[in-house]
Amino acid sequence: MRKLWIAGNWKMNMGGREGIELLKEMRNSLSGSKVDVGIAPPFTLIPHASEILADSGILLGAQNMFYEEKGAFTGEISPSFLLDFGVNFVIIGHSERRKIFGEDEELIKKKVKKALDVGLLCILCVGETLEERERGETKEVVKRQVLSALEGLPSLKGLTIAYEPVWAIGTGKVATPEQACEVHAFIRELIKEDIRILYGGSVKPENARGLLEKEEIDGALVGGASLKVSSFSEIVRIAEEVW
Ligand code: PEP
Repeated sequence: MRKLWIAGNWKMNMGGREGIELLKEMRNSLSGSKVDVGIAPPFTLIPHASEILADSGILLGAQNMFYEEKGAFTGEISPSFLLDFGVNFVIIGHSERRKIFGEDEELIKKKVKKALDVGLLCILCVGETLEERERGETKEVVKRQVLSALEGLPSLKGLTIAYEPVWAIGTGKVATPEQACEVHAFIRELIKEDIRILYGGSVKPENARGLLEKEEIDGALVGGASLKVSSFSEIVRIAEEVW
């Protein structure tokens, strides 16, 4: 069994002083976990997080990055800025970036390549919308997203894929373990590599066990429930029990 990874995506929340307190609480509660634990706070917290989480074993993540090193790219964040603060992983291709910020497959491919090239762990998010699922296009969409993002990569070392059905993100509607497993098995068959495939979409303490118990599911990318120590720690505790 691959080591489970529970990664929290704070999105555009807790980026100010309250986030510093939350990071300290997370550190106290989650240091030395048996499974991999990661937190991706907003960029403004990364320098603080790098100090607060140092030597805790908790991986520090970024929610996005650009694929160039430096230059006239107003508002963007270079991978080397992240590395400077000891960031371990970056989330690329989240459905909110695809939908709200118009990130297309070409851009996502460049970001994934750059992240892996500079030695960051990369969580590539893929997943279908509700309309696509209802039209029976789930596998077609996921296949296109996965293959286009990985095209031309010499190796998948450092890559993790998060299957995040868009209809399950932030909606409270979680995919059933069977629905998730079907897509995870499909992705595994597609890439034929022993990388981790996480599930994301309304994971909470109440539904985490059913998902994490499945052999096809190697962990979770957690949005809303990663904003409270109680719920995030509970998901990590369940992962430790299951692993
Ligand atoms: C996410 O944004 O990656 C996510 C899974 O969010 P939530 O857990 O809130 O659905």
